[in-house]
Amino acid sequence: MEIVVVLIVIGVLVGVALVLVAPRLRNRGPELEPPRQRGVGPATATIERRPIDVDDALAAEAPPAPEAPPEVVVPVRPSFRDRLAKARGAVSGYLGSILARSGVDAETWDDLEEALIRADVGVAATTDMLDAVRVRVKEQAIDTPEALIEALKDEMKDRLRVADRSLRFDGERTNVWLFVGVNGVGKTTTIGKIAKREAEVGRTVVVAAGDTFRAAAAEQLGMWAERAGATLVRGAEGADPSSIIFDGITKASAQGADLVLADTAGRLHTKSNLMDELRKVRRVADKEPGHVTETLLVLDATTGQNGLAQARVFTEAVDVTGVVLTKLDGSAKGGIVVAIQAELGIPVKLIGLGETAEDLVAFDPDEFVDALLSVD
Ligand code: GDP
Repeated sequence: MEIVVVLIVIGVLVGVALVLVAPRLRNRGPELEPPRQRGVGPATATIERRPIDVDDALAAEAPPAPEAPPEVVVPVRPSFRDRLAKARGAVSGYLGSILARSGVDAETWDDLEEALIRADVGVAATTDMLDAVRVRVKEQAIDTPEALIEALKDEMKDRLRVADRSLRFDGERTNVWLFVGVNGVGKTTTIGKIAKREAEVGRTVVVAAGDTFRAAAAEQLGMWAERAGATLVRGAEGADPSSIIFDGITKASAQGADLVLADTAGRLHTKSNLMDELRKVRRVADKEPGHVTETLLVLDATTGQNGLAQARVFTEAVDVTGVVLTKLDGSAKGGIVVAIQAELGIPVKLIGLGETAEDLVAFDPDEFVDALLSVD
């Protein structure tokens, strides 16, 4: 009997022990034998256990997708003719009605005159030019509207073609190109664009922020200078522009730089103050080691004949060697080009057709006249 009791107790104890130990053994299975990665051999490092992502797995197995060719976006730049659309708008209607007639009569000449005045060629330059066209018409026995418009184009091209439009550069000296003009015409932007262009043809450029009257001008120039890889020389607000420009020239000379582009103020308390200051700037900039090879008057084409009045004031103060006509892209007064040439005898050297560096282009009379005097 005792033996039976002992056997029962032993049996109960073994049963309890099995119930407690069996689940533990089951759980330890994976730890004893860690999973193996395919092709890696027995795993010895710690293996991160995360749920398998089906997409990852498929991607790993799938052959690489053929690479799509990079999309090349070529910006479509509007043509020169397109950018003169507004200027052409002033004359296009008149030219259209001239061409609609069978011959050339008094009304034709009135329309031609009106078209040129609308385009801001100015009364004096228009009268003068039409007199010359009448001579051509007589000499060539012109009697069709088409031939008349061609004669006008030829006359305008001849009048614009006379000038040398290159920007003067003396390889032996520190060249200074001075920029003058009233506020807001696009002086600072033009300097930035020219800095970039000149740097691209391999010239080293220093930009002198001589417009100390307008606080933002130096910052604006700084951004352009950085883009062009040019050195910026600036001073405190209200500082003497001549001394900043002279600093720029000294620095350029020390660095062996080719060109100093000097901004000037476009506004002072009085016109005579401004003109006195410009004369001083010009004198100082032309001192050794500097040599002023261009004094460019920047005019805003949208101001038309008003720009011409400004030009007269500036040409009295400094010897202007060329005009940069900005904003021609947004101006209906494209004929101002002819007036500048006719009344001031100063060549338009560059024209601005937009706000980017590429939008400053050399003035080409043939291209300009063909784009201006045509019908849309
Ligand atoms: P500044 O006061 O004479 O130095 O004039 P800014 O250089 O600051 O230019 C005045 C404004 O005219 C700026 O918004 C320029 O981006 C803009 N501008 C300059 N040139 C051109 C141009 O050729 N075409 C157009 N559409 N805008 C221009």
